[in-house]
Amino acid sequence: MRYTSFMAVLESGKRNIAILGAGFAGITALVHLWKLLGRENLQHEYQIVLISNRAWHLYTPALYEIAAVPHGAMSSAILKRAICIPIEFILGKFTGARFIAGEIAGMDPKRHTILFRNGDYLPYDYCIAALGAETNDFGIPGVSEYAFGLKTFEDAIRLRNRAEELAINTDGILRIVIVGGGATGVELAAEFVNFFCEIKEASRTPGRCIEEITLLEAGPAILAGFHPTVVAGAAKRLEQLGIRIRTNAVITEVNAREALLKNGGAIPYHLLVWSGGVMPARALKQFGMPLDPKGRLLVNQNLEARPHVWAIGDCAGYTNPATGKPVPGNIPVAERQAERAAKNIVAVIQRRTQYPFRPLKRWPFILTAGGKYAFADLGRMRFSGRIGWFAKQLVQLRYLITILPFGRAISVWMLGLRVWTSNDPGHRIPTQNRRPA
Ligand SMILES: Cc1cc2nc3c(=O)[nH]c(=O)nc-3n(C[C@H](O)[C@H](O)[C@H](O)COP(=O)(O)OP(=O)(O)OC[C@H]3O[C@@H](n4cnc5c(N)ncnc54)[C@H](O)[C@@H]3O)c2cc1C
Repeated sequence: MRYTSFMAVLESGKRNIAILGAGFAGITALVHLWKLLGRENLQHEYQIVLISNRAWHLYTPALYEIAAVPHGAMSSAILKRAICIPIEFILGKFTGARFIAGEIAGMDPKRHTILFRNGDYLPYDYCIAALGAETNDFGIPGVSEYAFGLKTFEDAIRLRNRAEELAINTDGILRIVIVGGGATGVELAAEFVNFFCEIKEASRTPGRCIEEITLLEAGPAILAGFHPTVVAGAAKRLEQLGIRIRTNAVITEVNAREALLKNGGAIPYHLLVWSGGVMPARALKQFGMPLDPKGRLLVNQNLEARPHVWAIGDCAGYTNPATGKPVPGNIPVAERQAERAAKNIVAVIQRRTQYPFRPLKRWPFILTAGGKYAFADLGRMRFSGRIGWFAKQLVQLRYLITILPFGRAISVWMLGLRVWTSNDPGHRIPTQNRRPA
């Protein structure tokens, strides 16, 4: 294990650059900072200390796949290896960087100290906050009690287990309601079609249930913020798969059997999935720094929350000066902000001027829609179908090569491909599932 103790960090005699969180923003910050410290010959004076409550980095773009692989197809241990990349593997590439596994409770910015849930504390010289976001039920009664989330690996396994149990034990119509017509809801709804086909094929009593998947969206259309051609294409694809889309469906309460709507209606369900929103990591409330209205750390154009502390990714409250709006919470934003924060730390160390963050006009995105089918919006290029799906795999490979030693990157990628395609019967989608939307 390359994990480190507090004492080893303190006794090293080096100055600390703490990165809080090992998500996309934190890991990308590590990659850039490590390279910059090496290039500027600063690695003898400064050490990077990565801190996270998980000993792995979760590859979220494939999380919906984990929730849609039947028990019989792959063990949970294999699923975990495909999507949870051990920090130990990552540190194999970034030698000298240290990792502390711990739950951060807050910060004392005046004393330059990170506070841990177990009472430990760690001083820092520079810090990048990249604590991401967590599921937000907006306080709607019943959601936390009855709905399944999809934010962590454990969420995905819990959801998969419940869906499979229901598919095997339900006679007649099995009602699955997915709340939130953003990317996560769309990807999961589409992949669930394959999942249920696979379970029914494997089951000794196939065809006992007919699943009815409904995607609920509070706004006027699914995939808010996506290009209109992607929205139209995805809606058509979902309808072809037999998924019902209900827009302007605002949920006010959930009980054990129904989701109640603002307009007075009720939607019965057997399985309710909540992908209706996220909120910044709750530890940020104890950082003693100003937050934006959504609870993210307010940052300036250089991504600084206060001197010596930068915030990036889903936990950063950055406003695009060109639009007056926050940037979206996605991986390209997290990566670009991470690169900028790393550069700015080195600029401050070297007493140079910092670089302002420059948001893109359009952020690239690849959205899968069941099996080997995806919509890719890469700014100038938009395409869909198998080619979109292959593009998504190549993006993952490129990312893995950036953060892992080459051999590891290839083996994690190959395992992922095996897992992602393990429930892709495509041609076997039974016609009884193609119910009109
Ligand atoms: C199911 C799903 C699918 C997605 N698919 C896509 C996609 O296809 N494309 C895309 O661009 N975006 C996608 N996203 C969004 C993307 O995952 C986020 O925008 C991105 O992960 C943000 O990176 P981050 O580092 O800010 O946060 P995260 O990746 O969430 O990382 C936060 C890190 O902080 C750690 N942490 C949190 N609180 C604490 C604490 N108190 N103490 C210690 N550690 C803590 C967490 O364990 C984690 O390591 C998806 C999100 C989900 C949930």
